[in-house]
Amino acid sequence: MALSYQSTRGGQQGVSASQAILQGLALDGGLFMPTEIPKLEVSLDQLAAMTYQETAYEVMRLFLTDYTEEELKSCIARAYDSKFDTEEIAPLVKAGGIYYLELFHGKTIAFKDMALSILPHLMTTAAKKNHVDKEIVILTATSGDTGKAAMAGFADVPGTRIIVFYPKNGVSPVQELQMRTQKGDNTSVVAIRGNFDDAQSGVKKLFGDEEFNRLLNEKGFQFSSANSINIGRLVPQIVYYVYAYAKLLENREIAEGETINVAVPTGNFGNILAAYLAKQMGIPIGKLICASNDNKVLYDFFTTGTYDRNREFILTNSPSMDILISSNLERLIYLSAGCDAAVNARLMEELSVSGKYTVTPQMREKMKDFWGGYADWEADAGEIRSVFEDTGYLMDTHTGVASAVCRRYAAETGDQAKMVVASTASPYKFSRSVMEALKGRQEEADEFRLIDEMSALSGIPIPQAVEEIRSAPIRHSRECGRDEMKAEVADILGI
Ligand SMILES: *Cc1c(COP(=O)(O)O)cnc(C)c1O
Repeated sequence: MALSYQSTRGGQQGVSASQAILQGLALDGGLFMPTEIPKLEVSLDQLAAMTYQETAYEVMRLFLTDYTEEELKSCIARAYDSKFDTEEIAPLVKAGGIYYLELFHGKTIAFKDMALSILPHLMTTAAKKNHVDKEIVILTATSGDTGKAAMAGFADVPGTRIIVFYPKNGVSPVQELQMRTQKGDNTSVVAIRGNFDDAQSGVKKLFGDEEFNRLLNEKGFQFSSANSINIGRLVPQIVYYVYAYAKLLENREIAEGETINVAVPTGNFGNILAAYLAKQMGIPIGKLICASNDNKVLYDFFTTGTYDRNREFILTNSPSMDILISSNLERLIYLSAGCDAAVNARLMEELSVSGKYTVTPQMREKMKDFWGGYADWEADAGEIRSVFEDTGYLMDTHTGVASAVCRRYAAETGDQAKMVVASTASPYKFSRSVMEALKGRQEEADEFRLIDEMSALSGIPIPQAVEEIRSAPIRHSRECGRDEMKAEVADILGI
């Protein structure tokens, strides 16, 4: 059965999956959602016997119904191959009673690779299917990891260009080096003097700028997005939650039908929303534990029902979660309003005017699968250190937040269900902060000395992605103010 997509704000309906992927954001500023969330058509037992690639096909075919079997299988095969340093693609590692779902074995060592390895293939296939004759310009705001992963996927892909905006002073040294050394003639990187919210709002504004879009079209370009507002990011992220459950079952860690909980270090709410969709599809997931750092706007939302971004933006040691406007929450708001786009549109209007909104008790009731928690740096660092000392398992600063929150959840509620923590980055990507967590003091040493020290201490081989940037030349040095993004894009495209 063909599934169609509509905007969460009601302005666009009857859009095919491939069109939604091409477009990225709906014309009215809303996000695309399928008209219904499909149920898995195979049993958990059957899933247990499947590879990652087979699982991906089983999940994605239900959402991307206008892709042929051949198209989708080809996209999957080209995405999940030897770019990943393990055949399992997303291994589960048990440490200290928790299962860590490692989502950082792709090219850029963060979980963004899970979806951004396949998005370029989905997009170029969509362009062919829809007879697009323009060059696609991927505009991307990044809190540090999306930018690199998107460029790794789109570099030198014919018919595409990619422009990445990241917050200057808001990413880790490794993240920044990874982006600024990116190869590919179609890639551009711009540091903006602002934070991630400024970058994301600026990109959304460009999407909605009709005059600018008309000019682009005349010059032979059209915009799309690699951010998690694109349904082509969200759907591939559902796969690993299905896969994780199936592997627990295959390894007899759980009985068939046993409920597990999932904890996710959250920023833009894309990753945890994917877990929620996996649950809607039929995976026995109980609670979705939404873990925040000091930017705990989501914790406050889940505990009070009021979303309020009017607060100080805090730079933390888990920079990929430093976000106050969590875009994908809009999809949950929409679902919780019974897919009433008018209700959602009103709340989003309130958010843009006053910076806050409050949901109804009925809507809160529909969100009761979510449990919000947060961990400050002390709790995060303490978790990283104690798990390493007790088990030898070393996690990054984002995973540390989720791991700490998940322990607090179990202690506060007494819930004993098995716990899967989404492990979203390699510790090497945040080497300075991770070493500070282990030693309990600030580090003066040079980044690469810390990396070598971490390797000696943990025995984890230094990933190729880190070795690559040791000596790679800097290729990108653009910088602009937060109000200058449009001019920057025009300059890059030569229009
Ligand atoms: C992007 C990112 C997150 C946050 O994921 P969302 O889908 O934006 O909630 C957490 N950890 C790391 C390492 C990330 O790169």
